[in-house]
Amino acid sequence: GRGAAMVTAVALRLAAQRRAVDQVLAPLRLSRDDLEKVQALMREEMERGLCKETNATASVRMLPTYVSHTPDGTEQGDFLALDLGGTNFRVLVVRVTEEGISMASEIYVIPAAIMQGTGEELFDHIMDCIIDFQMKQKLMAQTLPLGFTFSFPCQQLGLDKALLLTWTKGFSASGCVGEDIVQLLRDAAKRKRHLGMQVVALVNDTVGTMMACGYDDPRCEIGLIVGTGTNACYMEEMRNVGTVEGDEGRMCINMEWGAFGDNGCLDHLFTHFDKVVDESTINPGKQRFEKLISGMYLGEIVRQILMVMVQKELLFQGKPCPKLQTKDIFKTKFLSTIELNGLALGQIRAILNELELDATFEDSSLMREVCQTVSMRAAQLCAAGLAAVVEKMRENRGLDQLSVTVGVDGTLYKLHPCFSRNLQKTLKDLAPKCDVSFLLSEDGSGKGAALVAAVAYRAANAME
Ligand code: BGC
Ligand code: MG
Repeated sequence: GRGAAMVTAVALRLAAQRRAVDQVLAPLRLSRDDLEKVQALMREEMERGLCKETNATASVRMLPTYVSHTPDGTEQGDFLALDLGGTNFRVLVVRVTEEGISMASEIYVIPAAIMQGTGEELFDHIMDCIIDFQMKQKLMAQTLPLGFTFSFPCQQLGLDKALLLTWTKGFSASGCVGEDIVQLLRDAAKRKRHLGMQVVALVNDTVGTMMACGYDDPRCEIGLIVGTGTNACYMEEMRNVGTVEGDEGRMCINMEWGAFGDNGCLDHLFTHFDKVVDESTINPGKQRFEKLISGMYLGEIVRQILMVMVQKELLFQGKPCPKLQTKDIFKTKFLSTIELNGLALGQIRAILNELELDATFEDSSLMREVCQTVSMRAAQLCAAGLAAVVEKMRENRGLDQLSVTVGVDGTLYKLHPCFSRNLQKTLKDLAPKCDVSFLLSEDGSGKGAALVAAVAYRAANAME
């Protein structure tokens, strides 16, 4: 009768809705084949980046870091460290002794106006923070060696000479690209007549993280960041590094894999949503791999998908939703919370109401599915990149089986309830001959910069 007809109508409507949802999300769901292809492409770009003749046109720059050893436990001394380019700017004092490492740190804010102002303003601000920190810590009377964790791509000519290739993430301070970042910091110190520090090394955050984890686990020869941005570094054989003289030993290579795909090699993967997100950033066409993976962009991809779903009347019963037009309303924290296992849909609804999104239970569960799809893709792509790295290391060393540890840091990796699990599962699948452990770094960037500074400082003083 009537009742049965109504039930059928509802069932049909739900089935049609399901098909429509699947159609929107299909381009974001990657097959095993897709991932193998990404892995192979990453491997190709790595080779191109390492080779002297092709380096300039490779999307993965494979930058030499002049770090040739992971820590051996003999590092010692008191150091200042800076950590710039992640969620927070921090100044640290790191004490490395035979008994271990202790440190104190302070977080400082870098206002957006300074991130996007002039280089001089940026480095003056950084100096003000260092001086404030040294006063608070009563460290003004001495000249401390300083290790600078600088989380942007640099062409390094030595441990303390690093030309900025380009800004990424939210930074665009003028007058810095092409300049030696160490010199810019030294110049700022001069302007402030500050004698309390001596910059001895600049490292990428991936390198700092690898070094910090390497202090506790000698098998740690890879550094990975999945935070505001994403990137990896690893120990490569010198004989494979065509961009630096010499064939002996190894050198840590800062891959700058965030730019993977900037030469078009990943175009087949980018969805409509990815393109819209890319176009609304301050660096369109750049850091294309990063924009599929890292915390600064995932919420924006989710927002673009939800807007299309509203348009297609799959969400909020087709009611317009002006709040969705707001850039960056979905932070990493939101993605993490909405995917928490066992979190009742009622709670999700409460979160959404806070964002003035008037969601039903159906809406909430659909939003969760969108978030899951986007973060799953991110974890899988990150795994495909890592699979290329560990497989290369295994081949380099002529091993049937490689055992290696990855030191990891970054807000997305640390906060998200499923990201790390999905990453590890996919990696096992794509690189079965590699036995990979993950070690979370505690305050890694600062600690690692201090460890690199310790070696640089020792070497400099041994030469005198
Ligand atoms: C930068 C890398 C950095 C990564 C993680 C990227 O945007 O280019 O140098 O390691 O973010 O912070
Ligand atoms: Mg960081």
